[in-house]
Amino acid sequence: MSFPQTSPRLQGAHLQAGYDTRRVLDDVSLDVEAGRLTMLLGPNGSGKSTLLKTLARTLRPTGGRVVLDGQDIQRRPTRAVARRLGILPQGPDAPEGLTVRQLVAMGRFPHQHFLKPQAREDALAIDEAMALADVDQFAARPVESLSGGQRQRCWIAMVLAQQTELILLDEPTTFLDLKVQVDLLDLLAELAHVHGRTLLVVMHDLNLAAAYADTLVMMRDGRIHYQGTPEEVFTADTLKAVFDLEARVMSVPGAAHPVCIPATGREHAGTLGEVAP
Ligand code: ADP
Repeated sequence: MSFPQTSPRLQGAHLQAGYDTRRVLDDVSLDVEAGRLTMLLGPNGSGKSTLLKTLARTLRPTGGRVVLDGQDIQRRPTRAVARRLGILPQGPDAPEGLTVRQLVAMGRFPHQHFLKPQAREDALAIDEAMALADVDQFAARPVESLSGGQRQRCWIAMVLAQQTELILLDEPTTFLDLKVQVDLLDLLAELAHVHGRTLLVVMHDLNLAAAYADTLVMMRDGRIHYQGTPEEVFTADTLKAVFDLEARVMSVPGAAHPVCIPATGREHAGTLGEVAP
């Protein structure tokens, strides 16, 4: 797959960030490339969510800076940032009774004005976002009446209704059935490759990340350890170094991306040979 040469719109430079006295990010620099699907991988607690929040201006870095379209993000007004960048945090909760359409409409907040609560372009953006995320058939239903996968699509529709070029998602596919995960990731790939959006997505599943990412970023202990295409950085050595995981990484006929097969406890104990084929 080839991509046009584009310049990054979101950059983190030498970021240090954390909570109270606890520093999590330690000199993290990342250029999020426009029109691509960048995926963040790393063990629990390695700082992926903290990096996402810092890049989205939800968390103020204690060192370094985030640059959005050439300007320090901290110097830009909230509404201006929200017109360029949408973030979906992990496991969001919708207020009870809220319909799907009402939830998706919340994505329009950076475009709205007190005197003009819902203009025609808002209604169009909401319809388009619901159609893209394939939730238009649920528009009038309360969000809580939907399945986990359907609900997750509604949240993604809300971010899409914000009509931002940059979309940051924190583990959007966790706890979903594999087929629902694949459908969602197909949608995210389409947003990047067909609609030219820039996506940064925290992922839990290694193989799905390797299958969908244009760029993989691997974090451990608050630092980026590896960054590149899945073919470049998704290897047995990097999985061992980042996740402390013993795995074989191989190419599969017909698949364009590498696949990892974790070693089981039995293999570690060297008893694999005793198992009947
Ligand atoms: P990841 O997304 O890779 O699982 P996080 O960025 O969520 O990692 O967390 C990094 C570290 O920061 C963890 O040790 C976590 O416990 C801590 N942490 C995360 N959020 C908070 C918070 N709101 N307050 C204090 N510590 C936090």
